[in-house]
Amino acid sequence: MLTTTKKRTTCKVLEIRKLTAETSVVRIERIGLEFEPGQYIRVGIEGDPEIRDYSVYSGAAADYVEVLVRRVEDGLVSKQLCDLEVGESVSVGGPYGHFKLLEEIREKPLLLIATGTGISPFHSFVDSFKGLNFRLIHGTAKLKEAYESDFYGDHYFHCVSREDGADFKGRVTDYLKTLDLDPETNAFLCGNCDMIYEAFDMLQDKGLPTAQIHTEVYF
Ligand SMILES: Cc1cc2nc3c(=O)[nH]c(=O)nc-3n(C[C@H](O)[C@H](O)[C@H](O)COP(=O)(O)OP(=O)(O)OC[C@H]3O[C@@H](n4cnc5c(N)ncnc54)[C@H](O)[C@@H]3O)c2cc1C
Repeated sequence: MLTTTKKRTTCKVLEIRKLTAETSVVRIERIGLEFEPGQYIRVGIEGDPEIRDYSVYSGAAADYVEVLVRRVEDGLVSKQLCDLEVGESVSVGGPYGHFKLLEEIREKPLLLIATGTGISPFHSFVDSFKGLNFRLIHGTAKLKEAYESDFYGDHYFHCVSREDGADFKGRVTDYLKTLDLDPETNAFLCGNCDMIYEAFDMLQDKGLPTAQIHTEVYF
């Protein structure tokens, strides 16, 4: 169990948006929560001591907070969050984290790389800061896991490992091998650690300094 010294708030569920059988956007009351896009909150079912980290999916200006949750069948929190109903309550702490789009790099070319629900902080970036110069490379196992990809327009590029028909058939890291980078690029990597470690090394080999590579590991 994770513990925290920051104050926790009880928030009502306002909406559950089911994107696939396994993944939902859970919208809750904001109740004054101030966060910077890219940060995460600690969420649990009200009254249950188990809490887990979830990146904020919604933009900074919204009057609600959303998280994008993939249910882990034998998990203690994610499944329960996906099964919540409108009007039920969650407890929320935070925000936490340094995976932020600092002002000095908002004008630079951005390469946003995610696996699965690791797309969540990028949704918050794009919703919060208009006119970003970004490419979003999203890796998933299946085609239907392009979570609300229309939101990103032509900036979105889908790598799908187990089905045909996406922009690229294979893993994100297979696609990265083919990519040329502007040396001014800031890369943001979010999702599972295997992708992040591999992509980090590849980006360094392509000449990006470590200061321009930002990471958020989910598991
Ligand atoms: C900083 C941070 C931000 C995170 N943001 C998100 C988010 O926005 N959305 C989200 O769904 N999860 C996110 N996670 C993962 C989340 O905190 C939980 O670990 C996850 O929901 C599983 O919790 P659980 O109690 O259901 O399962 P647990 O009993 O804790 O089981 C954990 C196991 O589930 C698997 N797992 C964990 N997360 C995922 C995932 N997203 N997709 C597939 N398998 C997974 C891993 O194998 C892990 O070992 C984040 C983690 C961190 C550290």
